[in-house]
Amino acid sequence: MPRYPAIFLDRDGTINEEMGYLNHLSRLRILRGVPEALKRLQKAGFKLFVVTNQSGPARGYFPKELVYKINTELSRRLKRHGVVIEDFFICFHHPNDNCPCRKPKTGLIEEALRRYPIDTNRVYIIGDRLNDVELAKRSGFKGILVLTGYGRGEAEYLLPQSNIKPDYIAKDLREAADFILKDSNIHQSCDFS
Ligand SMILES: [Mg+2]
Ligand SMILES: [Zn+2]
Repeated sequence: MPRYPAIFLDRDGTINEEMGYLNHLSRLRILRGVPEALKRLQKAGFKLFVVTNQSGPARGYFPKELVYKINTELSRRLKRHGVVIEDFFICFHHPNDNCPCRKPKTGLIEEALRRYPIDTNRVYIIGDRLNDVELAKRSGFKGILVLTGYGRGEAEYLLPQSNIKPDYIAKDLREAADFILKDSNIHQSCDFS
Protein backbone atom coordinates (compact mmCIF):
# COMPACT_ATOMS: atom_id res chain seq x y z
CA MET A 1 0.00 0.00 0.00
CA PRO A 2 1.45 3.36 -1.00
CA ARG A 3 2.15 5.71 1.86
CA TYR A 4 0.70 9.17 1.95
CA PRO A 5 1.82 12.46 3.51
CA ALA A 6 -0.10 13.63 6.53
CA ILE A 7 -0.89 16.66 8.60
CA PHE A 8 -1.69 16.45 12.27
CA LEU A 9 -3.81 19.37 13.34
CA ASP A 10 -4.56 20.58 16.78
CA ARG A 11 -8.28 21.26 17.16
CA ASP A 12 -9.12 24.18 19.47
CA GLY A 13 -7.45 27.45 18.48
CA THR A 14 -6.18 25.96 15.23
CA ILE A 15 -9.26 24.73 13.34
CA ASN A 16 -11.96 26.25 15.49
CA GLU A 17 -12.03 29.15 17.87
CA GLU A 18 -10.35 28.62 21.24
CA MET A 19 -13.02 28.90 23.95
CA GLY A 20 -11.04 27.95 27.03
CA TYR A 21 -13.10 24.81 27.24
CA LEU A 22 -15.35 24.07 24.32
CA ASN A 23 -18.15 22.92 26.61
CA HIS A 24 -21.16 23.26 24.34
CA LEU A 25 -21.84 22.50 20.70
CA SER A 26 -23.28 25.99 20.25
CA ARG A 27 -19.78 27.43 20.84
CA LEU A 28 -18.17 25.65 17.90
CA ARG A 29 -16.87 28.19 15.39
CA ILE A 30 -14.57 27.24 12.57
CA LEU A 31 -11.90 29.88 12.03
CA ARG A 32 -11.98 31.98 8.90
CA GLY A 33 -10.19 30.46 5.91
CA VAL A 34 -9.72 27.05 7.53
CA PRO A 35 -11.87 24.92 5.18
CA GLU A 36 -10.19 26.43 2.11
CA ALA A 37 -6.71 25.92 3.56
CA LEU A 38 -7.44 22.29 4.43
CA LYS A 39 -8.90 21.74 0.98
CA ARG A 40 -5.67 22.90 -0.65
CA LEU A 41 -3.59 20.59 1.53
CA GLN A 42 -5.89 17.69 0.81
CA LYS A 43 -5.73 18.35 -2.92
CA ALA A 44 -1.93 18.20 -2.67
CA GLY A 45 -2.27 14.67 -1.30
CA PHE A 46 -2.09 15.21 2.45
CA LYS A 47 -4.40 13.20 4.69
CA LEU A 48 -5.70 15.24 7.59
CA PHE A 49 -5.79 14.08 11.20
CA VAL A 50 -6.78 15.88 14.37
CA VAL A 51 -4.73 15.36 17.53
CA THR A 52 -6.26 16.93 20.61
CA ASN A 53 -5.97 17.05 24.40
CA GLN A 54 -9.44 17.04 25.96
CA SER A 55 -9.13 16.98 29.72
CA GLY A 56 -12.51 18.68 30.26
CA PRO A 57 -14.38 15.42 30.97
CA ALA A 58 -11.68 14.22 33.41
CA ARG A 59 -12.06 17.55 35.21
CA GLY A 60 -15.80 17.01 35.35
CA TYR A 61 -16.60 20.01 33.14
CA PHE A 62 -18.63 18.22 30.47
CA PRO A 63 -19.27 14.68 29.28
CA LYS A 64 -16.94 12.80 26.99
CA GLU A 65 -19.80 12.42 24.50
CA LEU A 66 -19.71 16.15 23.89
CA VAL A 67 -16.16 15.86 22.56
CA TYR A 68 -17.32 13.21 20.08
CA LYS A 69 -20.36 15.28 19.20
CA ILE A 70 -18.22 18.33 18.48
CA ASN A 71 -15.80 16.28 16.40
CA THR A 72 -18.67 14.87 14.37
CA GLU A 73 -20.11 18.32 13.81
CA LEU A 74 -16.67 19.67 12.87
CA SER A 75 -16.30 16.86 10.32
CA ARG A 76 -19.75 17.54 8.96
CA ARG A 77 -19.09 21.24 8.45
CA LEU A 78 -15.72 20.64 6.83
CA LYS A 79 -17.19 18.00 4.56
CA ARG A 80 -19.49 20.64 3.10
CA HIS A 81 -16.27 22.12 1.70
CA GLY A 82 -15.03 18.74 0.51
CA VAL A 83 -12.59 18.39 3.40
CA VAL A 84 -12.22 14.98 5.02
CA ILE A 85 -10.76 14.52 8.48
CA GLU A 86 -9.38 11.02 8.34
CA ASP A 87 -9.47 10.43 12.08
CA PHE A 88 -9.43 12.14 15.45
CA PHE A 89 -6.88 11.12 18.07
CA ILE A 90 -7.91 12.28 21.52
CA CYS A 91 -6.23 12.27 24.91
CA PHE A 92 -8.95 12.32 27.56
CA HIS A 93 -6.59 12.11 30.51
CA HIS A 94 -6.19 14.59 33.31
CA PRO A 95 -2.71 16.19 33.33
CA ASN A 96 -2.03 14.48 36.69
CA ASP A 97 -2.65 11.04 35.16
CA ASN A 98 0.78 11.18 33.60
CA CYS A 99 -0.46 9.25 30.57
CA PRO A 100 1.72 8.62 27.52
CA CYS A 101 -0.68 10.39 25.15
CA ARG A 102 -1.26 13.91 26.45
CA LYS A 103 0.51 16.34 24.12
CA PRO A 104 3.43 17.07 23.99
CA LYS A 105 3.84 13.36 24.67
CA THR A 106 3.88 11.36 21.47
CA GLY A 107 1.43 8.52 22.21
CA LEU A 108 -1.32 9.72 19.90
CA ILE A 109 1.08 10.22 16.99
CA GLU A 110 2.58 6.77 17.52
CA GLU A 111 -0.91 5.30 17.47
CA ALA A 112 -1.72 7.14 14.22
CA LEU A 113 1.48 5.88 12.61
CA ARG A 114 0.60 2.32 13.62
CA ARG A 115 -2.90 2.56 12.18
CA TYR A 116 -2.37 4.48 8.95
CA PRO A 117 0.15 4.12 6.10
CA ILE A 118 1.71 7.53 6.60
CA ASP A 119 4.85 8.61 4.78
CA THR A 120 6.89 9.78 7.76
CA ASN A 121 9.13 11.86 5.50
CA ARG A 122 6.21 14.15 4.82
CA VAL A 123 4.45 14.92 8.07
CA TYR A 124 3.66 18.31 9.55
CA ILE A 125 2.11 19.18 12.88
CA ILE A 126 0.18 22.43 13.26
CA GLY A 127 -1.05 23.97 16.48
CA ASP A 128 -1.53 27.16 18.47
CA ARG A 129 0.58 26.08 21.44
CA LEU A 130 4.25 25.41 21.91
CA ASN A 131 3.09 22.01 23.16
CA ASP A 132 2.05 21.21 19.61
CA VAL A 133 5.43 22.27 18.30
CA GLU A 134 7.13 20.24 21.01
CA LEU A 135 5.04 17.24 19.98
CA ALA A 136 6.34 17.72 16.44
CA LYS A 137 9.95 17.93 17.59
CA ARG A 138 9.65 14.87 19.84
CA SER A 139 8.06 12.94 16.96
CA GLY A 140 10.73 14.03 14.48
CA PHE A 141 8.38 16.11 12.32
CA LYS A 142 8.14 19.74 11.35
CA GLY A 143 6.09 21.88 13.68
CA ILE A 144 4.17 25.00 12.74
CA LEU A 145 2.84 27.46 15.28
CA VAL A 146 -0.28 29.35 14.21
CA LEU A 147 -1.02 32.71 15.82
CA THR A 148 -4.73 32.00 16.18
CA GLY A 149 -6.11 30.74 19.52
CA TYR A 150 -3.36 30.90 22.17
CA GLY A 151 -0.75 31.39 19.45
CA ARG A 152 0.00 35.09 19.87
CA GLY A 153 0.50 34.76 23.60
CA GLU A 154 2.63 31.67 23.17
CA ALA A 155 4.78 33.42 20.56
CA GLU A 156 5.17 36.59 22.58
CA TYR A 157 5.61 35.30 26.12
CA LEU A 158 6.74 31.68 25.96
CA LEU A 159 8.70 31.36 22.74
CA PRO A 160 11.53 33.78 23.67
CA GLN A 161 12.52 31.73 26.72
CA SER A 162 11.80 28.32 25.24
CA ASN A 163 14.21 25.99 23.50
CA ILE A 164 11.36 24.72 21.34
CA LYS A 165 11.51 26.53 18.03
CA PRO A 166 8.77 26.19 15.42
CA ASP A 167 9.89 25.45 11.87
CA TYR A 168 7.49 28.14 10.85
CA ILE A 169 5.21 30.67 12.50
CA ALA A 170 2.04 31.32 10.52
CA LYS A 171 -0.59 33.96 11.07
CA ASP A 172 -3.27 31.32 10.62
CA LEU A 173 -3.95 27.99 8.98
CA ARG A 174 -4.05 29.57 5.56
CA GLU A 175 -0.46 30.78 5.93
CA ALA A 176 0.51 27.42 7.38
CA ALA A 177 -0.86 25.75 4.25
CA ASP A 178 1.12 28.16 2.04
CA PHE A 179 4.28 27.19 3.90
CA ILE A 180 3.61 23.45 3.74
CA LEU A 181 2.81 23.46 0.03
CA LYS A 182 6.04 25.31 -0.73
CA ASP A 183 8.15 23.32 1.72
CA SER A 184 6.90 19.89 0.66
CA ASN A 185 7.44 20.64 -3.02
CA ILE A 186 11.07 21.44 -2.37
CA HIS A 187 11.44 18.12 -0.61
CA GLN A 188 9.73 16.19 -3.35
CA SER A 189 11.96 17.58 -6.05
CA CYS A 190 15.08 16.56 -4.08
CA ASP A 191 13.65 13.12 -3.52
CA PHE A 192 14.87 11.52 -6.73
CA SER A 193 15.64 7.88 -6.13
MG1 LIG B 1 -5.04 24.45 20.67
ZN1 LIG C 1 -3.65 10.72 27.57
